Amino acid sequence: MKRLCVFCGSNAGHDPRYRAEAERVGRLLAERGIGLVYGGGNIGLMGAVADACLAAGGEVIGVIPEALMGKEVEGRNVEHRALTRLEVVDSMHTRKARMAELADGFIALPGGFGTFEEFCEILTWGQLGFHVKPMGLLNVNGFYDPLLALFDHAVGEGFLRPQNRAMALADTDIEHLLDAMAAYRAEPVSKWLKEEKQL
Ligand code: AMP
Repeated sequence: MKRLCVFCGSNAGHDPRYRAEAERVGRLLAERGIGLVYGGGNIGLMGAVADACLAAGGEVIGVIPEALMGKEVEGRNVEHRALTRLEVVDSMHTRKARMAELADGFIALPGGFGTFEEFCEILTWGQLGFHVKPMGLLNVNGFYDPLLALFDHAVGEGFLRPQNRAMALADTDIEHLLDAMAAYRAEPVSKWLKEEKQL
């Protein structure tokens, strides 16, 4: 993997372990020579992962929609102004497509709606066969246990194929997650389940 896209919170969460883990991810990517692609923010876990990657000599490309440029949150610019490259795009949709194009894989750190949406959309593109790149959840502090349980529930209820469920890799440790992602090979399988006959 040459570049990895990280989705993560524009907040840092209450537990300091979230920020510490985001910093670890940034450093590790730099150490492994993997470029970071992310939403270009300077706030929350987004700022933490980018700063740590830059400080360790890594390449960081931010992709931010024009509408977020120049905004401030608690005295900080929303956009990061010291990246290797900041691409300004016209919309959230273009941003996601551009991040997907630049990266060879995707991980989600803890976050909120934005993070969930980005990760689930990239999974959706994967199950439709639009890309074959690895996708992983960094399950810091068990943060993603409820989402993983929901994915399993969707399999049990007949809304998700087990093979597609398996596309969402997860690990509590970033090194193990990166290893699993490097070994990942997408299995071509239809998204649609066979309709059961209603009795
Ligand atoms: P959230 O998890 O709701 O905090 O949203 C974070 C995710 O959505 C990031 O991966 C970003 O790509 C995007 N995002 C949401 N809010 C912002 C923001 N203020 N600045 C930059 N990107 C953001």
